[in-house]
Amino acid sequence: MQVLRAVTRYAYAPVLVLGLNAAGLAIVAAGLHYGWLALVLFAAVGLAFVAERISPCHQAWNNSHGDEGANTVHAIVYEMSSLNGVMLLPVIAWLTPWDGIWPTHWPLVVQVLMAIVVADFAFTMVHYWSHRYPILWRLHAVHHGVPRMYGFNGLVRHPLHQTLDMVVGTLPLALAGMPVEVALLLGLAVSIQLVVQHSNVDYELGPFRNWMSIGKIHHLHHVNWGKEGDCNFGLFTTLWDRMLGTFHPEPPRAIGAGDLGIDEVPHFPRGSYVEQLVFPFVYEPGKGEPVRYSHPPTHGHGPGDRLHPAE
Ligand SMILES: [Zn+2]
Repeated sequence: MQVLRAVTRYAYAPVLVLGLNAAGLAIVAAGLHYGWLALVLFAAVGLAFVAERISPCHQAWNNSHGDEGANTVHAIVYEMSSLNGVMLLPVIAWLTPWDGIWPTHWPLVVQVLMAIVVADFAFTMVHYWSHRYPILWRLHAVHHGVPRMYGFNGLVRHPLHQTLDMVVGTLPLALAGMPVEVALLLGLAVSIQLVVQHSNVDYELGPFRNWMSIGKIHHLHHVNWGKEGDCNFGLFTTLWDRMLGTFHPEPPRAIGAGDLGIDEVPHFPRGSYVEQLVFPFVYEPGKGEPVRYSHPPTHGHGPGDRLHPAE
């Protein structure tokens, strides 16, 4: 078990971030059906779930929090919305009156890397603004209501916030003429990144520890310690956080299993997808918990939670 844990700790990030994205590139380069990319995504979620059993950050995060049903709906909605965005690309290209400036003659891997760098900047800025402006925070708070880290939580987004991400993050690329295959590989890279970023796996990143916006760096972003989590907004890298002055490599204290969520909303409706859709419209940032959630929900609490700050 010790050997298996050591292998998992060191192999997890390279296999998912490099290996699975390389598999996606190989599928597209070989001209295979794009449907195979869905299999790569399933592999990412499957490997995360296995690795979480072998080398968890917190055992309690692996236990049910009554959120699996809602999170599964989130994952399906997230991926279908991404796919719809990609399918809009030919329409956008047809509607734009100019020829695209996208360097389609560059090697596919370079085109995908360029798309990732641009999208990383845009996603980081949307994320940063989402923590600064209450109207955006209402939507983004659905993502922060999660009481634990595990493979599926990265895809928990309010659809309106995801739309904002896509408009700011990928529309400029679409207007520049990004081809469908690059958009699909960018979407795959974003999804894999979200799985890695939020999975409950204690993994090693070696010299990349402070340059990739995953692992403990992203866990700190999810703490319910007042404003202390308002840092580390990056999706792929910490470059833009360093530029914004919001890069915090170390938490001020150890992050416990019950330290995640929104401090003023301890009864976030984690078990109901529909209630999470409504949440931004009943939640008033800074005014405490919405009245409708101020009693314990009926769908149960997971172990390790801090539902009442005094407990
Ligand atoms: Zn956030």
